[in-house]
Amino acid sequence: MKKKYTIGVDLGGTNIEVALVDNKGNIIKKVKVPTRVSEGPDEIINRVIILIKKIMKDVPPNKLNGVGIGAAGEIDHRRGRIWFSPNLFWENIPLVAKIKKKINLPISLENDANAAAWYMHQLGPAKGVDNLICVTLGTGVGGGIILNKKIYHGWKGKAGELGHMTLFPKGLKCNCGSYGCLERYVGAPYIVERAIKKIKKGEKTSIRDKVSGDWSKITPYLLEREARQGDKLSKEIWAETGEYLGIVLASVINLLDLEMIVICGGVSKAGEVLFDSLKDTLKKRIFGKSPGMVRVVYSRLKEDAGVIGASLLFS
Ligand SMILES: [Zn+2]
Repeated sequence: MKKKYTIGVDLGGTNIEVALVDNKGNIIKKVKVPTRVSEGPDEIINRVIILIKKIMKDVPPNKLNGVGIGAAGEIDHRRGRIWFSPNLFWENIPLVAKIKKKINLPISLENDANAAAWYMHQLGPAKGVDNLICVTLGTGVGGGIILNKKIYHGWKGKAGELGHMTLFPKGLKCNCGSYGCLERYVGAPYIVERAIKKIKKGEKTSIRDKVSGDWSKITPYLLEREARQGDKLSKEIWAETGEYLGIVLASVINLLDLEMIVICGGVSKAGEVLFDSLKDTLKKRIFGKSPGMVRVVYSRLKEDAGVIGASLLFS
């Protein structure tokens, strides 16, 4: 039977967050410390264990479901292993086994994009939706798929890597080693890169004055603000971003026939200028004449979604 509380852990490249979460997704207590990636896996895992123990002190063990951990990268949830984490610079770390040596509770490890999708399905706009994809737009592009009310992991646990689906066959080289990946065009730094290319070509834009020639000052946030003010180049960049996302997501829908696309993450704040073009592209590219269209919803991921999503892995 489900117990009252779960400990959620969000293991990120910048911060480690550990929280006591009740079975309705409310945070009862939370601690957050910097990850300090340079200290290496053993030091970081020790810190996670100390934080979990600190939180455990406040709850009788018979009221705890266990510890749910969300982390970025290639995660083997069955073996509790991180095969590869570009944020933490870890390779082949048996995370769950290491924590289990010190913590006598069930422990569950999940890719953070899957944890976010699970959160959307359990408590977010996709509550009651059986088949969906949750897309996280930030520095990277993450995807988590829920099929028949369950996280779809695939064979090795790495399903949902939307960011590394090919957008351009002969496109630019991606960090993953492949070419023309979606993330290489719509990840935050690459949206900025595309804008700079256009500005350098001499296209008219209010951005040039705003940064007084210092391209490093261009951010997705600035492009979003200028698009709202009517700047043509900024609007073009967002429309193009929506089209690129739409091309790849239409393929996902043609393959899986999902009911909903939830878009979250910092870059998705651009709003209509991004979503109108995304929806137009989906309409053009999704197969079939049957009535009804995949719903595209925007969710402002709650600040603690990572840690709550991880805790919900036991529900
Ligand atoms: Zn890639």
